[in-house]
Amino acid sequence: MQNFVLKGHICYNQTPTELAVQEDGYLICENGRSSGVFPVLPERYQNLPLVDCGDRLILPGMTDLHVHASQYAFRALGMDMELLDWLNTNAFPEEAKFQDPEYARKAYGIFTENLKKSTTTRACIFATVHGEATEILMDQMEASGLITYVGKVNMDRNAPDYLREESAEASAQATVKWLERTIGKYEHTRPILTPRFIPSCTDELMEALAGIQKQYHLPLQSHLSENQGEIAWVRELCPDADSYGEAYDRRELLGTGGPTIMAHCVWSDEKERALLKKRNVFAVHCPQSNMNIASGIAPVRAFLKEGVPTGLGSDVAGGSSESLLRAMTDAIQASKLRWRLVDESQKPLILEEALYLATKGGGSFFGKVGSFEPGYELDAVVLDDMRLAHPQTLTVKQRLERLVYLGDDRDIWKKYVAGREIR
Ligand SMILES: [Zn+2]
Repeated sequence: MQNFVLKGHICYNQTPTELAVQEDGYLICENGRSSGVFPVLPERYQNLPLVDCGDRLILPGMTDLHVHASQYAFRALGMDMELLDWLNTNAFPEEAKFQDPEYARKAYGIFTENLKKSTTTRACIFATVHGEATEILMDQMEASGLITYVGKVNMDRNAPDYLREESAEASAQATVKWLERTIGKYEHTRPILTPRFIPSCTDELMEALAGIQKQYHLPLQSHLSENQGEIAWVRELCPDADSYGEAYDRRELLGTGGPTIMAHCVWSDEKERALLKKRNVFAVHCPQSNMNIASGIAPVRAFLKEGVPTGLGSDVAGGSSESLLRAMTDAIQASKLRWRLVDESQKPLILEEALYLATKGGGSFFGKVGSFEPGYELDAVVLDDMRLAHPQTLTVKQRLERLVYLGDDRDIWKKYVAGREIR
């Protein structure tokens, strides 16, 4: 059913700072897209099937722009290290297990089930270097009904022998083989190029990937300026570049070959941010991960002010929770610490902005996604706050704020992706 009406308290962003609220309103879905929000049901839609959500809140579905499905099994474990030690101790040994398709099926199955139960309707996902296991994840994501980009990771240096790909050529060949198997195979699942980060990719490999990106017209996801040790390492590896961002740019991996996502950007200065904006690269804010592995506090206010496209990421398993409600709360809280401790000219995020980042901000990577304005693909989550009893009558905005801070998967009543109900 892709033509229907949702009735309830409808909340969404048109701009980062303004929340549109229509109490007891009607949200029209035609052919999987919004035809708008109305206070009274227009005559021309009266024949459409109506889903009465009663006193519940209807929000746009949320986009997780950065998550490692292959790290889901060890989320909330080993949180006492910084990035580079954490990768060697936790991430790489776990990722090596995906050599075994049986393990991949089991571990990715748990990830997929839990993502399906969350407020996330779209995601950009890292798998591992293993082509077969990545395809298993893509099969599972497709069956879930969510809309996702999934990437086979590339790493041909500075990784343990058991995980490192043999050479740049071997990594590029494995990538092409995986692409030939998966391009066009799915309706809702697409491949995305995924060089892990500069320390784990030789110049030769990055050059090959830039060529593959042009040949297959693919988007690309990676990591940028997450941790100071990592940034110093990139400076050594790429003495030709003034910054980490420029190092990608010189290798044609920063938005010149296709739509691009860079996770973290915690330490991106004004110049690096200007480059992201110029290349229309999405910066992904992953506040929980940045706190867990002590990377720092990203300058999100600056991203918004300067017009860098920005969304939120759970970054499981640097982040311990896949919940984007939690990511919104963390983003607000982290911005307050940055404001108080780092730069008092950069005001903290408000609720509206956090919702914008989780919906329209990140959703824009997928096109017209993350709002209920006419023409937007209809991704929606219907939330029920009955569980969060309160002695007084609250406004819809107050109820939304409590759901963001206190809600979880138990409070989702219905979920739609591009007009399809996810069950
Ligand atoms: Zn990551």
